[in-house]
Amino acid sequence: MAVENIRIGISSCLLGEKVRFDGGHKLDHYLKETLGPFVEWVPACTEVECGLPVPREAMHLVGDPESPLLLTVRTGKDQTERMLRWAERKLKELERLDLCGFVFKSRSPSSGMKGVRVYSPEGMPRYRGVGIFARAFMEYFPLLPVEDEGRLSDPGLRENFIERVFVFRRWKDFIHKGGTIKDLISFHTNHKLLVLSHSPRHYRTLGTLVATAKEFKPALLYTEYLSILIEGLRMIATTKKNTNVLQHIMGYFKNQLTQDEKKELMEVIGDYHKGLIPLIVPIVLLRHYVRKYDEPYLKRQHYLNPHPAELMLRNHV
Ligand code: SF4
Repeated sequence: MAVENIRIGISSCLLGEKVRFDGGHKLDHYLKETLGPFVEWVPACTEVECGLPVPREAMHLVGDPESPLLLTVRTGKDQTERMLRWAERKLKELERLDLCGFVFKSRSPSSGMKGVRVYSPEGMPRYRGVGIFARAFMEYFPLLPVEDEGRLSDPGLRENFIERVFVFRRWKDFIHKGGTIKDLISFHTNHKLLVLSHSPRHYRTLGTLVATAKEFKPALLYTEYLSILIEGLRMIATTKKNTNVLQHIMGYFKNQLTQDEKKELMEVIGDYHKGLIPLIVPIVLLRHYVRKYDEPYLKRQHYLNPHPAELMLRNHV
């Protein structure tokens, strides 16, 4: 998959751009240096792009957490309308760029996607809310993978986000190619075990939907499929769910493996289940058997290869 095909929006300060209210940045080394070579970042600084200078007076959210005002902290100047007007234009521009995700700066009153402090008119931090631009973005692109850099330091959330980004790219490719029902069946088949590792319930629902695909108008079918797919993938692939998938894969080799090989594989899966080794260990062993025995269904499973190995997303216990 070519890098330029995976465009992800990002709060500019996370790439080291000196656009913060105090003239500083919030460079995130993982995003820029580790993930950077595999994606094309599309930076956006809400506050600067809507016309505010650097440096500028700090701002915060005030009032109703569902619809707060964006006010400057010292002089109380209301910047809400200015930012909303800019966001309306910016979202249309971003739509044309075919993004596969967005990484927001955490806790920012403009860019934070959750847990942003919302103050009472008296100046007390009273609620947790969503930054003005982040809220508009998530309402405009409800299915697009989004995260903030703070949450991405958690290995489970990081893998989940990057996995969704890659699935989203493949989904867009499928739609751009014309998206026939035959192609949907193929897309679904390739993602079966990946979905199973996140949510057996969504795996079953998608299976039923694809089996009855001919009963739906294509537009409705694809909207429904994508929303169930993304809802399922948002659920974390826990050790227990991964163990079930690994055992399921092992079942494909029951006639080929020797007793010794089966014992070794069971031990490796068991050690992963106990938290002694990372997921990558049983995956590498299973990939080896998939290649050796040329197992066609497993060969096409993105579960065994969901993102570039260099990101080492499955190398933690
Ligand atoms: S958090 Fe958003 S608005 Fe604030 S400096 Fe970073 S990119 Fe700009």
